[in-house]
Amino acid sequence: MHIVVTGGAGFIGSHLCEALLADGNKVTAIDNFLTGSPSNIAHLRERPRFSLIEHDITVPLGKEEMVQLGQAAAIFHLASPASPADFSRMPLQIAVINSQGTHNVLELARKLGAKYLITSTSEAYGDPLVHPQGEEYRGNVNTTGPRACYDEGKRFSEAITSVYVNEYGLDGRIVRIFNTYGPLMNPYDGRSVPSFITHALKGEPLVVYGDGTQTRSYCYVADMVAGLITVMFAPPETRGMVFNVGNPDEREIIIFARIIKEQCHSNSEIVHGPALEDDPARRCPDITRISTMLGWQPSVPLEEGLRLTIEWFRTRLADED
Ligand code: NAD
Repeated sequence: MHIVVTGGAGFIGSHLCEALLADGNKVTAIDNFLTGSPSNIAHLRERPRFSLIEHDITVPLGKEEMVQLGQAAAIFHLASPASPADFSRMPLQIAVINSQGTHNVLELARKLGAKYLITSTSEAYGDPLVHPQGEEYRGNVNTTGPRACYDEGKRFSEAITSVYVNEYGLDGRIVRIFNTYGPLMNPYDGRSVPSFITHALKGEPLVVYGDGTQTRSYCYVADMVAGLITVMFAPPETRGMVFNVGNPDEREIIIFARIIKEQCHSNSEIVHGPALEDDPARRCPDITRISTMLGWQPSVPLEEGLRLTIEWFRTRLADED
């Protein structure tokens, strides 16, 4: 099958491209390297069934690119910055990518008659008043705060996807991704896991924002990729549905920092920075829907996932020296 992955040069996208190739598919990544990197897909570019279209999804594809896509049968739409640090660096781009960009990708899916999956986010629940967060929960989002470009952008992406499902019969599904980590994360993009590991390995202080009692639930990237593929190819009665994909192993951020420090054998200090505005206090997915309907569950325990991730970061940071 010919499958398109927007954001294919990003952290999750590059792992997804690799898994789809391993399953025997032909894969075309669409990416403009806004937050992704050519190095994430360097090993894939030698494969004959892989190709890249370097393109900004806020602009519709041209004729030549459409020919390259041919009769692609499925589109995983991942293209969007995802790090909270990007929310202040490029808020307008994030809002436009998740509105105009998603519209363009939906039009592409409609023209091709392709299956479609969008990666939304647990941020769609905002600072949740319900715990753990199930798909029925409608969220507690600040529409004008510093995270709104992303949170509301993704909520709009969900809304316009539903329009295409209902009005055009699109065979589409929505995944709300909860925090995901693993090799190929950008060490410097400000997300907590890469930032803790990078600082711990360099012997620099690990900065925990606020008192560190806010919780997160981290999913290893291989589990996430398996979840995305499971949802894309789920039975027809799931068309238009939303699925949480994440690992419900919930821990306080301060505990994550301590575990990472220990697994890195680091002498770094753990210090506290000012609490971030609108930072969710608790975050944990209710994965009952995907586990009962589709039989998916995460299988990589935190300590094992961190071991694999730290190993990759060690090599990556050593290459910088
Ligand atoms: P990432 O930043 O590593 O990957 C995003 C990719 O999209 C990058 O390669 C980037 O260059 C590309 N991109 C951005 N804007 C583009 C544009 N206008 N045109 C073409 N390409 C563009 O982020 P990620 O962690 O791999 O996230 C992938 C998806 O998963 C995103 O949609 C994100 O919102 C969602 N998500 C991720 C997490 C997580 O914990 N990693 C959590 C929730 C949701």
